[in-house]
Amino acid sequence: MKSDLVFGHPAWIEIDLKQFKKNLDIVKKHSGKAKLCLPVKANAYGHGLVAIAQTAVAWGVDYLGVSCLQEGALLRQAGITIPIIVFGAIHQEQIPELLANDLELTIASGYKAELVANYCKQVNKQCKVHLEIDTGMCRTGVRPETGMSVLDYLNEEPCFEVVGIYSHFATADNPKDAFALEQMRAFQHIIEHAKKSNPSIIAHMANSGALCYYQNSPMDMVRPGLLAYGYFPSGVESGYEGIAPILSLKSTIAYSKIVPKNRGISYGLTYTTPADSRIVTVPVGYGDGYRRALSNKAKVLIRGKAYPIVGNICMDQFMVNAGNDEAFVGDEVVLVGQQGNEKIFLEDVAKFCDTIIYEILCGFNSRLPRVYKE
Ligand SMILES: *Cc1c(COP(=O)(O)O)cnc(C)c1O
Repeated sequence: MKSDLVFGHPAWIEIDLKQFKKNLDIVKKHSGKAKLCLPVKANAYGHGLVAIAQTAVAWGVDYLGVSCLQEGALLRQAGITIPIIVFGAIHQEQIPELLANDLELTIASGYKAELVANYCKQVNKQCKVHLEIDTGMCRTGVRPETGMSVLDYLNEEPCFEVVGIYSHFATADNPKDAFALEQMRAFQHIIEHAKKSNPSIIAHMANSGALCYYQNSPMDMVRPGLLAYGYFPSGVESGYEGIAPILSLKSTIAYSKIVPKNRGISYGLTYTTPADSRIVTVPVGYGDGYRRALSNKAKVLIRGKAYPIVGNICMDQFMVNAGNDEAFVGDEVVLVGQQGNEKIFLEDVAKFCDTIIYEILCGFNSRLPRVYKE
């Protein structure tokens, strides 16, 4: 099964690009004429920045969304030429490189706008910008009351090409949330004004939660990250039939042995064998982003059957109790994903860690090779 997978690390992440494109098809179908911006920040939610971006560009997304200069520059170095918006706030010392990489900037204050304008004038350059309105997230963005005056400034300053105006939901992952509706109203009010002076401005607000639960949110463009990667922000499926995760985490058994009854396993000896048991060792640990909080909680699949992780997860390895069953060195182990008829859901992994799917995905780090399947 894994003879074609020879890496320097006996564990890997498999990405199903066919399903990824299907997810994009479904998102597109549900967002009508809106442009599609795919957020690829944080290594494309752990799926691999460049490979995901290249697939998305070939599929036909209109925009890519990144958090910072570094991510945008990597995409440009990979030869990606479509528009890229940087969601994060502008850092003055990065302005030259942001512009050199032809990245579209988020203007979140009049002050930052002036910093960019000063540089643009110095070097006689133009800059594409999106004005961010803070309608309630209180992270970054111009307050709605001052939004129009900053927009007027951007429109009047010849170095700016104002391509978009956007806002971000704080609670759209909750269906029927009153605050989300309030944010929508506040933003709608602003864009009515904005469109008067700039009819072609792209108004965008919808993240995955909004696409699922607030389909009437303003959208000349949508920015669903999690949904495109196959997950629902609140676990509620909400009419997006066919969306499915595209990431699996796999490894192979590195060591297999019988441990007698009443022996403690791993650091701290937090688990004691209730009987003579086959204990196998899997070469994945929190050093890969497979979190220690999963110790004595999560299960993995071997030979199509789920078995518990026993004892504390180490930096590079953990142990599994296969009981009386056969499980030998070289057998495939599925930590996330499907094997035979059994599945390990990332949602459950996140729950065991008392966190959200997003954090688990981003936590899978660069030690795990990514393998892409068409
Ligand atoms: C990350 C991000 C998104 C995507 O959020 P999801 O919940 O993954 O859909 C959209 N917009 C902005 C500004 C973001 O930072």
